[in-house]
Amino acid sequence: MTLAEELASKRKSAQASEPAVAKQAPVVGSQIGSTQFHSLLQQEISVTSNTVSEQIVNYIKYSLCRDSTNIDVFGMYMASSSTLRNKLIDNWMKTQQVQQETRAKSVNYLSLEFLMGRALTNSLYNMEVGQTYAESLRDLGFKLEDIQSEEQDAALGNGGLGRLAACFIDSLACMNIPAWGYGLRYNYGMFKQHIENGYQTESPDYWLKHGCPFPLVERLDREYVIRFGGWTEMETVNGKMHFKWTGGSMVKAVAYDCLCPGHHTQNVANIRLWSARPYTEFQLGSHNSGDFYNAIKEKADSENITFVLYPNDSTEEGKKLRLKQEYFFVSASIQDIMKRADEMQIEYKDLANHFAIQLNDTHPALSIPELMRVLLDEKDFEWEDAWKVINKVFSYTNHTILPEALEKWPIHICKELLPRHTDIILEINRRFLLQIQQGGATADMIRNMSLVDDTGCRYLRMANLAIVGSHAVNGVAALHSQIIVDATFHDFAVVDPSKFHNVTNGVTPRRWIAQCNPQLAHFITKHLKKAGYIQREVDWVGNMDLLKHLVQLEQQPAALQELLNIKLLNKQRLARYIERHVPNCGGKIPETMIFDTQVKRIHEYKRQQLNILQAISFYIQLKAMTPEQRSKTFAPGVCKIFAGKAASAYENAKRIIKLITAVGDIVNNDPETKDFLRVVFIPNYNVSSAEIIFPATEISEQISTAGMEASGTGNMKACMNGALIIGTLDGANVEIQEQVGDDNIFIFGALTEQVNMIRQKFRAGQQLQLPKQMKDALEAIKSGMFGNVDYFAPLVNGLMSGNDYYCCVVDFEEYNQVYIEDVLPTYRDRAMWATMMLNNVARMGFFSSDRSIQNYCDKIWNVKPIQVGGLNME
Ligand SMILES: *Cc1c(COP(=O)(O)O)cnc(C)c1O
Repeated sequence: MTLAEELASKRKSAQASEPAVAKQAPVVGSQIGSTQFHSLLQQEISVTSNTVSEQIVNYIKYSLCRDSTNIDVFGMYMASSSTLRNKLIDNWMKTQQVQQETRAKSVNYLSLEFLMGRALTNSLYNMEVGQTYAESLRDLGFKLEDIQSEEQDAALGNGGLGRLAACFIDSLACMNIPAWGYGLRYNYGMFKQHIENGYQTESPDYWLKHGCPFPLVERLDREYVIRFGGWTEMETVNGKMHFKWTGGSMVKAVAYDCLCPGHHTQNVANIRLWSARPYTEFQLGSHNSGDFYNAIKEKADSENITFVLYPNDSTEEGKKLRLKQEYFFVSASIQDIMKRADEMQIEYKDLANHFAIQLNDTHPALSIPELMRVLLDEKDFEWEDAWKVINKVFSYTNHTILPEALEKWPIHICKELLPRHTDIILEINRRFLLQIQQGGATADMIRNMSLVDDTGCRYLRMANLAIVGSHAVNGVAALHSQIIVDATFHDFAVVDPSKFHNVTNGVTPRRWIAQCNPQLAHFITKHLKKAGYIQREVDWVGNMDLLKHLVQLEQQPAALQELLNIKLLNKQRLARYIERHVPNCGGKIPETMIFDTQVKRIHEYKRQQLNILQAISFYIQLKAMTPEQRSKTFAPGVCKIFAGKAASAYENAKRIIKLITAVGDIVNNDPETKDFLRVVFIPNYNVSSAEIIFPATEISEQISTAGMEASGTGNMKACMNGALIIGTLDGANVEIQEQVGDDNIFIFGALTEQVNMIRQKFRAGQQLQLPKQMKDALEAIKSGMFGNVDYFAPLVNGLMSGNDYYCCVVDFEEYNQVYIEDVLPTYRDRAMWATMMLNNVARMGFFSSDRSIQNYCDKIWNVKPIQVGGLNME
């Protein structure tokens, strides 16, 4: 659909929902909106108008300066969200007041990524005004859904790590915890992905094109100066050495507050996002020397710091701008936290009683030397006293054990950009190494644990800095936390075992059930209410353990049928979406097919290549069968749905995308097979498309090489929505299996220890025999069945050699066997499948991010809820 067609159809659907009376009335100029809407627009309305409709019309007129002749659906979105923001600001001010008065300890979640998705639907739901808005908009002649879909995703994150931060902020707000997120307001977020001729192309995501989008509030009153470069000055006062960082260049950080309402409470969490601005105090020198234009240019360049989100590809290393970004972020956030401490009259030595600072991965690790510098150089602390504060304030979450993803910075770059911080880090290191040496650490241990990597140009190791500076370090799933202790950071765990924790990730049931799958939410509410466990939806959304009572429905065929019907509705919604967005999908997707999805970043360790090789193998098998055999083995067919972005510099990931679309071209258009197999690649995976994909998922592919996926959260979203996992014992899959039971999940593949052994064998020169079906699939690619033989060669040759780091060769046979001998026959038994779905929905309570946040509160932060406004917002 072209944009013009899309707008026309939106106008039509808005018209279709107009009340009968509005249709007859002649409307001059505009084709949208009810008579009431247009007559309100013509009135002069007081600015204190009270009904939602009046507020919306007010905004359209007095902020957008639009009238009956030129209002459109996007304008309605702007108006709806802005009126909602007013209410949100009221609640935020109440929250702030309570925080001020109680000086309650707050969580400060430092994350360079927040993958928020859309905010309007979420805020309407959490603030419990969705009905009010739907009705008001209906009166004005609009459909809420049309208005909601006008919103652009806020995509200030790459994937799982950023989405986790977003889910955690939601839980914190819902649980009445005083909570602040800190991040960056990038002008350009995650790139938009297009599929052109089967290849990924990228275009910039300029999400700020309409100014300051909901629910952001520009805070020009909250700004700080950030320094880069310069040198350290030393002076001795009363026999004591003092250090002062000075010189260099300056940039300003301006705050944008992203207000996040809790559900069924007036508590609001605030994500404070920093934007870089020129520091306007000109040095006289450059003026006088006549170098005015260069001076201006330098100022303009300073805004580059928050220009764009860094992609998490492996080419990140050594990018000076990224280091600048990290320090800019950290400096502004620490200054803001100190200012909040001042406002509450908190003494800096007591900082840890009032502030917990969580480092989401090592990206904000510089906040450790930054706070150290502020306490030592500006607040006159002794080293030991400052270090005590630091150690009580900070805690660190590790997100990956892939060696190429562990951050390290060349010391010479650090020295140039952050001379004083580099000295502080080296002093932290000196003291730390001395201490462990006295404790009996071996030379090997000291080399491993040093904050300095002495190879090559010498690097600072950010993970080691984060561990040494924090009082708690956690992994994000039980298996991952175990690997950290056993391998990645083993020596640290030997020296201080009590520092290491596990907090298994979770996802918010507000967005990932209630908002994206209202039919399922209704089902849950209805049945829990009938059985007397709850009164209404809020009771289980905030207490997901209650879902376990749903297993009683196993004995009720009618309830199981309801669950199948809900899945079917969501599959139909996704099928329509695919038919609209995937040109080579082969026409109407049969809704009886298994909807099998693998949606996540494209990465070799996540093994989309294993999945697409299976599809090729299915295709080869189907082609060799008679129609009867096809039905017997493959009915009712499989629709393999992929979505995900490849980092723009990650060539093999891009090859995998092209292979998926090329296989789709053949398979989806082959009349012999298209009723049994489809392969589709949905472009531009983001939070909003995830909200359509997960409710429709029946089989969720969670097939990473064991030991490589820290947790995964897509797996949780899928199972909560009644999908069954086919997967390896990796990340949180291990705990999902524990919760749902062995019978309600399809597990295959080598275990972490086996993967390690296999890799040792590879290194010793051993090669594995290729399983026949895999060989056939690889030969098919090589033979040109999907074209582009040379382009696919690096993928094919890697696997053909029988020596692959990601162990596809090892796992392929069992993966196929489980699919054909277990998944497909089980699916044909509809009652059995429905029972398994029910068990997945009912037993996923553990994976609510509320549980994760409760774990952090208890084990790591020691924070407690506050009460904002009345007990409940009724
Ligand atoms: C949940 C989510 C992720 C993380 O998915 P994994 O399968 O855990 O890698 C990434 N991107 C988006 C948009 C998500 O919603």
